[in-house]
Amino acid sequence: MDIIPPVEDISERLLFIYDRLLQCYGAQHWWPADGDFEIVVGAILTQMTTWSNVEKAIDNLKSHNLLSPAALYQIPTSEIAEEIYSTGFYKSKARKIKAFVTWLHDYYNDSLDGLFTLPVLSLREILLSVYGIGEETADSIILYAARKPVFVIDAYTRRIMQRIGINPGGDSYHSFQALFMGNLPVNEKTYNEYHALFVRHGKERCRARPDCAGCCLSAICSHRNSIVSG
Ligand code: SF4
Repeated sequence: MDIIPPVEDISERLLFIYDRLLQCYGAQHWWPADGDFEIVVGAILTQMTTWSNVEKAIDNLKSHNLLSPAALYQIPTSEIAEEIYSTGFYKSKARKIKAFVTWLHDYYNDSLDGLFTLPVLSLREILLSVYGIGEETADSIILYAARKPVFVIDAYTRRIMQRIGINPGGDSYHSFQALFMGNLPVNEKTYNEYHALFVRHGKERCRARPDCAGCCLSAICSHRNSIVSG
């Protein structure tokens, strides 16, 4: 039986959650992609849709030899939109992909390698300056494609943490990110695995209507305890 860390020890609680999720689901081996550029495109396409819809779009791009910065730079935005139709908001996402590859062409000669030599903070700042790249997308690119340590915050992470009862003292993206990065060792592999485990847990158990019976986090979960205690 694991020893449950006290409420006030945030670092130990975050490590406890990580260990429990890892025991429950095993390593997730994220991000599911064949290369860094595929991760970048996937990070843009996954906004407001399911991963299966993203996979269809990625397969389309691959089958037409379009999944490279140079290829997407050369074709019109309308053609990109047709290829990624399955993801929804396809016109908007096509504009974002076009903006990214145009920017990469102009400043980094179509290559992610030069871009990824930047330190984390500079890389984050420059990515956020590109049209269509918000914080979650930028951090997904930094963590999974550039393999640099930054904690990705998404809707699953917020929901699980709020239900457990670990609140960062604000609802902003930065508040949640600071909670993790200020209380966990700086480690790209741990951040990678932790985020992937939150996504798995949020999809499988801690859904909009959570399935709390038998949840591996129930011992420390305020939501679960409030139901049990009536
Ligand atoms: S016990 Fe329920 S609310 Fe708490 S983390 Fe598990 S599924 Fe989510």
